[in-house]
Amino acid sequence: MPLRRGTIVSTGVVIGDAVVLDTEETRVPRRMVPVDQVPHELTVLEHAFEAATRDIAAERERFAARAGTELADIFGFHERWLSDPKARKEIGLLVTEKHYSAAYATSVFMRRYRRRFQEMGSPFLQERARDILDIERRLLHQVSGETRHELTELDEPVIIVAHDLTPSQLVTLEQTKRLLGFATDAGGPTSHTAIIAAGLGIPAVVGLENITSHVSSGDTLVIDGLHGVVIINPNKSQRAEYTAQAAHLQEIRVTLDELRDLHAETKDGVRVRLLGNIEFPYEVNECLAKGATGIGLFRTEFLFMQEGSPPTEEEQYKAYCDAVDAVGDHPLVIRTMDLGGDKCCGPSGTWEHEKNPFLGLRSIRYSLQNLSIFRPQLRAIVRASANGDVQIMFPLVSRIMELRQAKFVLSLVMEELEEEGYEFCGKMPVGAMVETPAAAICARELARETDFLSIGTNDLIQYTLAVDRTNERVAQLYTPADPSILRLIRGVIKDGRREEVAVSLCGEMAGDPLFTILLVGMGLRTLSMAAGNIPRVKKIIRSINLTDAERVKRRVLSFETEREVLNYLRDETRKVWGDI
Ligand code: PEP
Ligand code: MG
Repeated sequence: MPLRRGTIVSTGVVIGDAVVLDTEETRVPRRMVPVDQVPHELTVLEHAFEAATRDIAAERERFAARAGTELADIFGFHERWLSDPKARKEIGLLVTEKHYSAAYATSVFMRRYRRRFQEMGSPFLQERARDILDIERRLLHQVSGETRHELTELDEPVIIVAHDLTPSQLVTLEQTKRLLGFATDAGGPTSHTAIIAAGLGIPAVVGLENITSHVSSGDTLVIDGLHGVVIINPNKSQRAEYTAQAAHLQEIRVTLDELRDLHAETKDGVRVRLLGNIEFPYEVNECLAKGATGIGLFRTEFLFMQEGSPPTEEEQYKAYCDAVDAVGDHPLVIRTMDLGGDKCCGPSGTWEHEKNPFLGLRSIRYSLQNLSIFRPQLRAIVRASANGDVQIMFPLVSRIMELRQAKFVLSLVMEELEEEGYEFCGKMPVGAMVETPAAAICARELARETDFLSIGTNDLIQYTLAVDRTNERVAQLYTPADPSILRLIRGVIKDGRREEVAVSLCGEMAGDPLFTILLVGMGLRTLSMAAGNIPRVKKIIRSINLTDAERVKRRVLSFETEREVLNYLRDETRKVWGDI
């Protein structure tokens, strides 16, 4: 029973029979048309765009009825793309100038266009290639009139194994009500397919590299979306174990849903604020639905990682206002763009190559050197502060001077907006992320000049342990449980307390239930995490006493190794909530 490891995009456990999807893409013959047929081909093309647009709109509507308009907005990318005349024009030119058939011209253009996305440095943009493929298939279906029925012809509930799945394929499969889960060779956690899977609660593991060559249709598969593992043809005891776990998880899900409107409060009455992390405004609702009482991290750089040039001030203002409106009376912490490292923007090849991008012109450093991009962002954030409880946060601060410079630019922007007659909150809280060892060591100084600090453990771990967070070859060395990390976190919390400045934590560690008791014991009262993690973390908080959590913290801080920390935390967590 071989086991393959991949990336979790949607938690949950499922066991069932596999169906391996045909990985062949539609092959379009190279076909030229006589000159007098060119107008006909152009009409075919025009109709194809119109029909694909109608298809997408209908798909969005059906999906919205099933999963809510926010999730269905994912198809907005397709709609915007199809309505942009540029692509239509370029495909049309291939028909008029090269006399390609409408189908061949579409296929040539779409493949080139998709390849550009695939070659981009940013994983986020690479994954947009999947949306492009989706559009390509729809257009080709329209121009060639071919239909692919296989997705809807499932008789039994199955686990789909594919090289990759586009958002449309996933939605089509989901509508058959026969989709138990899926596993793919390609894909990553930020793809739209992943977002849809998580939103629908479909267990999935992606990025398995070559799962399609190891599985045949009819094999039994376990998708262990808790550990990012796929087991092919499990033995009897594994089947029994996973069947029980799937049932247990289902029970837990029901119990967790019931917690939604209850406070995250320990048994002895200590309240912890659980906030959501988002990349796009439409995710706010999902966070609130899971019980978040605000947004603790809006990763605005994702707005800059879409196609083309950076978003304008107005476009950003709209995005921030959308998020403020959705969050209502709750706080919305907008982090200024954290570009660089693994998150680059702009057309392919325009982001300057760096030997060590994580140690290079990243985040606040990039912003301070690119005021023509930074200032419009600050203006948009400040303007949005007129509408709600907006707070601003600067990422990757590694020295006090950076914080001072960023605050200085912010003050200039505020003066400017005041002169221009804009309304905004003059007392908008200003925070800094603590995600470098330098910031953690000098947290007290940072606290003196901020309204709040937020510990970004994702980066703090990579910089402290010298482990690239994106390099799978050293992934086993990347851990929040290393004593050095825990001591840095403890130090920041103490420094914040001394300066009476609130300290929160917004790295992935905040959403890992294994660390909840420890973080509460260490004194954290605000944790910000991906929406899906909120219920489990809340459940643990509601099952503990502060005194117990403080005892756990003392013990954990006495350990010398990561292994001791993890074993102990596993035992303590199991005591309050069995195996999670
Ligand atoms: C972090 O580093 O912990 C963090 C929250 O920021 P990001 O993951 O966006 O780098
Ligand atoms: Mg970070």
